[in-house]
Amino acid sequence: MLESVFCDCPYCGESIELLIDCSVAEQDYVEDCSVCCSPINISVLVDDDGVPQVSVRTDSE
Ligand SMILES: [Zn+2]
Repeated sequence: MLESVFCDCPYCGESIELLIDCSVAEQDYVEDCSVCCSPINISVLVDDDGVPQVSVRTDSE
């Protein structure tokens, strides 16, 4: 099941849409920003209710 979540890009500040696979409780991956093409480190924790908690950071952090 895919959940769409909006986050602010840590590079350009634009709101970008992420598709989260909520069947995986914990995931870390890199996705290029669809606006500025910078590599965003994305960490997802899916809580007990199936709600994804998404945090994003730059590649250098
Ligand atoms: Zn960006």
